[in-house]
Amino acid sequence: MCKAKRGLIVGRFQPFHLGHANVIQRILKKEEELVIGIGSVQESFTLENPLTGGERIEMIRTFLRKHNLVGRIIIVPIPDIEENFVWPARVKEYTPSFRRVYSGNELVLSLFETMNIQTTKLEMVNRKEYEGTYIRKKVIRGEKWQQLVPDSILPVLKNIGFSKRIKRLSSWYMDGEGEK
Ligand code: NAP
Repeated sequence: MCKAKRGLIVGRFQPFHLGHANVIQRILKKEEELVIGIGSVQESFTLENPLTGGERIEMIRTFLRKHNLVGRIIIVPIPDIEENFVWPARVKEYTPSFRRVYSGNELVLSLFETMNIQTTKLEMVNRKEYEGTYIRKKVIRGEKWQQLVPDSILPVLKNIGFSKRIKRLSSWYMDGEGEK
């Protein structure tokens, strides 16, 4: 039973961008606390999932610290599993209790609804630009992408070598050596 006014959002955050920042700030107007599930945490060093789970936690915590939100957020790594139907139960196993799931992803919403968990579909603002795939493509094309993520996380991404990693992965895939 969930006593705290606590919500859940699950995302891959590849990378964490201004759309995610806006969604989190909107949810925190309705919930006292928020569990942020780092989805597909087992994935890293691919074009779709360049950052490791740990790097994603570091990036998000830096944003939270800057906005004094660390005390209201619980970050939980969540690996993918084969069976979609069982996945929400796994998420519940890994996370503290929550009363509502927020997502823009129809699959995520419908899976939690099968467990009678309340859901809210939250659309991201400026979806044309605040989108992980769009940002990663900009990095590959050598275009400016930094304005699409919170300023506070830029030093973290620089330290990780985010752009360099994506560009290297991209040329590796173009050489036909990697799987997407
Ligand atoms: P996703 O399913 O890979 O993302 C789908 C799209 O939804 C992405 O383009 C993402 O944008 C977008 N999105 C995320 N939050 C949104 C919002 N509030 N409004 C509009 N669009 C939004 O991953 P995800 O939805 O970010 O996260 C779901 C996670 O749950 C994934 O890691 C997925 O693998 C996991 N999952 C696992 C299972 C299983 O293991 N069987 C089942 C269901 C879901 P951005 O790229 O810009 O973030």
